Amino acid sequence: MRFKSWPSLAVAAVALLAAGCTTPPAPSVARAPLKLTILHTNDHHGRFWPNADGEYGLAARKTLIDRVRAEVAAAGGHTLLLDGGDVNTGVPESDLQDAEPDFKGMDRLGYDAMAVGNHEFDKPPAVLAKQRQWVGFPLLSANIYRDGRRLFEPYRIFERGGYRIAVMGLTTDDTARMVLPDHIAGVTFRKPADEAAQLVPQLRRQADMVIAATHMGHYPDGQRGVNAPGDVAMARAVPGLDLIVGGHSQNPVCMLAENRRNPSHVPGQPCAPDRQNGAWIVQAHEWGKYVGRADFVIDGGRVELVRYQLMPVNLKLRGADGKKTLATEAIAEDAGLRAFLQPFQQAGQGRLSVTIGAADGVLDGDRARVRQQPTNLGTLIARAMMDRTGADLALINSGGVRDSLPAGPITYRDVLKVQPFANTVGVVTLTGAELLDYLGAAAKMTPGAGGFAQTAGVQLRIAAGRLLEARVAGQPIDAQRRYRLSINNFTAIGGDGYPKLNTHPNYVDSGFNDAEVLRAYIARHSPLKVADYAPGDAVQRR
Ligand SMILES: [Zn+2]
Repeated sequence: MRFKSWPSLAVAAVALLAAGCTTPPAPSVARAPLKLTILHTNDHHGRFWPNADGEYGLAARKTLIDRVRAEVAAAGGHTLLLDGGDVNTGVPESDLQDAEPDFKGMDRLGYDAMAVGNHEFDKPPAVLAKQRQWVGFPLLSANIYRDGRRLFEPYRIFERGGYRIAVMGLTTDDTARMVLPDHIAGVTFRKPADEAAQLVPQLRRQADMVIAATHMGHYPDGQRGVNAPGDVAMARAVPGLDLIVGGHSQNPVCMLAENRRNPSHVPGQPCAPDRQNGAWIVQAHEWGKYVGRADFVIDGGRVELVRYQLMPVNLKLRGADGKKTLATEAIAEDAGLRAFLQPFQQAGQGRLSVTIGAADGVLDGDRARVRQQPTNLGTLIARAMMDRTGADLALINSGGVRDSLPAGPITYRDVLKVQPFANTVGVVTLTGAELLDYLGAAAKMTPGAGGFAQTAGVQLRIAAGRLLEARVAGQPIDAQRRYRLSINNFTAIGGDGYPKLNTHPNYVDSGFNDAEVLRAYIARHSPLKVADYAPGDAVQRR
């Protein structure tokens, strides 16, 4: 029994059926070359429904995939459909339903396997268990353990046209610092390359082609900055992989030259995947914007990539006149899948209108004030960010606050009007000296600008744009101490003129949607007394 570490006999039995016979075909038997097309997506993040411009969505994705499958089959070829993980988190209509439409929709698309992403741990373990039940395909990860046993199937072997294709799953070991500790109690994320180094030689003996479906990120030339090692580092460390279907860094892996990614790939233009140590590395951006298509021929012991394409799913380009037009041909939505998903979309939208809490007065996000002075809504948002991340203080650019919250009942839709950008909430640990520098930059933001800061957990004294004093929890900031500051991903990347923090070694993007963070806080603290959020003398300007 090769699958000692698997959690249950039932799972093992299903997998053995999928794997077919356990003896590799005798090399003396002459086999016709295999045409194998790998289709791939990653970082779906709740996008089961198309956006307001009609881009992406599972129903159009299905039409495209079915079309390619038919074309490949007509030419005597075979297909595998893989995903690089992170199905969860990003769209309220999906988040509110535990990504049920997303997982069930992917099942209807006939996925063969997916890697486990870090966002698969955003919900409690019971939700992940439920999600695994919703799909007939395996969630693969070889490097996630609990009590010395793997939590997921490490790999599965598929048979296509008399050939055996091994697909191994791997998950970034950064996951441990990206999710709530409660959701991964007792779980360890071992180094993916170590697990791969053990498994790949074994899989090479059993299969004609070895694929890693990973959620580790693609960092050109392995320049990973503060991130855990990604696909490039693993390919260099572990020989014997034919293909890595990746995710997590959420970019199209289209190379300009060796170790140089094209940062401005345009939908519909050719895309050359990365190649490291004999392994092709592919990634299809994010959200189902593309389906990647890699056409291989396996002949004897050779696995050759003959063609690669990133196929846009109804992506639009904005012209000079501001009008959006389709980058490539329009793809009709699959009617059956659309009909299946429609009730989920309606239910999700319906939930947006449900009252989530209440306030005894208006929480002020009016542009004329929120960009000029601290307001109660600014304080509320920043406190919600502190609450979610455990930060000592939080800061949000007022340009990210787009509306007020009404007195009386509050719905999720009201919250989405305040924070419509689907930003994510981040947290960074800074020394007191670094924090003072950052707050000094915030103090320079002139009233009226989108960079004007709304804060919580900190008192600032500012004169003529200069920071005179800053206190956290009533105490002057100590240059030697460490502080946890929560900001959003927009300011972290330098938006509205803020110093960049996303490249700081201690920066972590929680991946949590800002509106969802505010919704959860309101739900937990309602009815809100607006007086509790009055900024008072938090910021004094002269
Ligand atoms: Zn991820």
